[in-house]
Amino acid sequence: MRDEDFSPALLAWYDEHARELPWRVGPNERGGQRPDPYFVWLSEVMLQQTTVAAVTGYFRAFTERWPTVMALAAANDADVMAAWAGLGYYARARNLLKCARMVAADHAGRFPDTEAELLSLPGIGPYTAAAIAAIAFDRPATVVDGNVERVMARLFAVEAPLPAAKPTLKAHAAALTPVHRPGDHAQAVMDLGATICTPRNPACGLCPLGPACTGRKRGIAADLPRKSPKKPKPVRHGIAYLARRADGAWLLETRPEKGLLGGMLGWPTTDWSEVAPDPAPPMPAAWHDPLLEVRHTFTHFHLRLSLRLASLPADMPGPFVAAKDFRPSDLPTVMRKAFDLAQGALNQD
Ligand code: SF4
Repeated sequence: MRDEDFSPALLAWYDEHARELPWRVGPNERGGQRPDPYFVWLSEVMLQQTTVAAVTGYFRAFTERWPTVMALAAANDADVMAAWAGLGYYARARNLLKCARMVAADHAGRFPDTEAELLSLPGIGPYTAAAIAAIAFDRPATVVDGNVERVMARLFAVEAPLPAAKPTLKAHAAALTPVHRPGDHAQAVMDLGATICTPRNPACGLCPLGPACTGRKRGIAADLPRKSPKKPKPVRHGIAYLARRADGAWLLETRPEKGLLGGMLGWPTTDWSEVAPDPAPPMPAAWHDPLLEVRHTFTHFHLRLSLRLASLPADMPGPFVAAKDFRPSDLPTVMRKAFDLAQGALNQD
């Protein structure tokens, strides 16, 4: 199979087997209909570091509540951060709002249609710019995510390990990108990686590229792509302070814009460091140590967050959120884990 023969085989497969995704206009629904760039952008930002299964519900909730980029641009920051809670990588949510507002203010609510212009928007890196240009505007951009890297490594039996092999894999993906239906081609490679050329057990017998796949021929497909050994993640320690007033209100703070979980609602905590943290209670109180610890893994470290609890009188002043306004689902996952543990302990008191 020559390079120019890959895409027709892949597109024929995609026309029959494309995944149905809420942000996608599938090959059978096309009839001249283009995907909504707002949907493509929103889904691609949500999918960074996150699975389709985890994103689908969030995507539906966002587009029901904010059906256009103009509606999202006009949204209240706290509402968007709360709606994003649980998806992780919260800088994405802050950039989402910045980007929506820039598209509204500088582009009259229309996403630009070239990779270069898309790259100038907040939170849009090379991958996302290429994905939007290809999927929403049918530009022959080279879209390379983890699925595409895996398919390329196997098709061309690239044995150099990731991440060093990235430029080679991208060059292979670029060489295969067609001028005809480049958006569908990009989605077809991703779908192939997600459903057939899967990480552990590639279903080579069902693969439209099987006859041309060097990794398959050499019997090494399942071992590719190779990866350089990862450095172990350090462990950081911190203390979270959870206080509930007698009227049911909780002491919560909005975290600073910059830094981890920036702009999200959370419990006051100490710094998170590799040595035992200095206690930093947010207010004088009879803080009680329930000997409970939250464990959570971020991209670059594991966190061990021990808890301190306090029951306070109903008239205690401070940044309390009334029981009727408090929704645990507005908290990022690590803070929700702390809440789940603390609630059990406080209810036993
Ligand atoms: S033949 Fe197998 S290894 Fe090669 S691309 Fe298809 S599924 Fe992946």
